[in-house]
Amino acid sequence: MASWGMTRARTLHRVPRRPGLILGLLALSQVAVVALWWRWGWRIGLPAMLLTHLTVVWATLYPRATLLCPALSRLPTARREVWLTIDDGPSADTGPILDLLERHDARATFFLVGERAVAQPERVRDILRRGHGIGNHSASHPDTRFWRLGPAAMEDEIGRNQSLLTVVSGQTPRWFRSVVGMTNPFVGLSLKRHRLARVAWSARGFDGVDCDPDQVLARLTRDIAPGAIVLLHEGAAHGHNVEILARLLEWLAREGYATVVPSEPADSP
Ligand SMILES: [Zn+2]
Repeated sequence: MASWGMTRARTLHRVPRRPGLILGLLALSQVAVVALWWRWGWRIGLPAMLLTHLTVVWATLYPRATLLCPALSRLPTARREVWLTIDDGPSADTGPILDLLERHDARATFFLVGERAVAQPERVRDILRRGHGIGNHSASHPDTRFWRLGPAAMEDEIGRNQSLLTVVSGQTPRWFRSVVGMTNPFVGLSLKRHRLARVAWSARGFDGVDCDPDQVLARLTRDIAPGAIVLLHEGAAHGHNVEILARLLEWLAREGYATVVPSEPADSP
């Protein structure tokens, strides 16, 4: 268990600096497509259009793509340390998860959904009281729509969750996790406005959907290396999230891994 120094946290905590730039470039690429189409016809214009559109679709849907918005995918360390990140809470699993973490002297960051936090404020306060961090994982977790939200709807999900979590917990999150890992060109605008840095992951077991703890654990441990950011979930309908974490914590202890939570930038408002 360790906390990261402030200098390191500053370099890890990267708020998108010019999210408008990528939007401008995307608009420009479409002007170029129209120009190509007009000058050379559809044989050049159509492939150019498809190429630019597919690039944006790929960058939106591929969770580790950073074309549209920077993301932290692993910690730059050679030490056997991992950052546990737990999405989708709070939930009925939060209490048992906190007990487990305490038993293993482990720390984690909980990426919370605002509307769930408002309904279970005690669980949010427990997370902080017991020494863990919280992050922003949208206000309502619109998993089927998140990738195609426009700037206003995106701001409603990200900005509103900042307000909800601040009211419930007394702390303003500094980290953001995209819903189902999807990040369209508008995410960066809200992250900049709220001084949030996006966190992706380097190890995941699909424990949000898969109900076989053996398979989930095999997928997770295969990708765990020094500096891994581990994506976990709580409250999944299959009910195995706590068991998965228990077995992961045992594995980490056996393999000599410690858990770390990067400290938040000191210049936070
Ligand atoms: Zn989620």
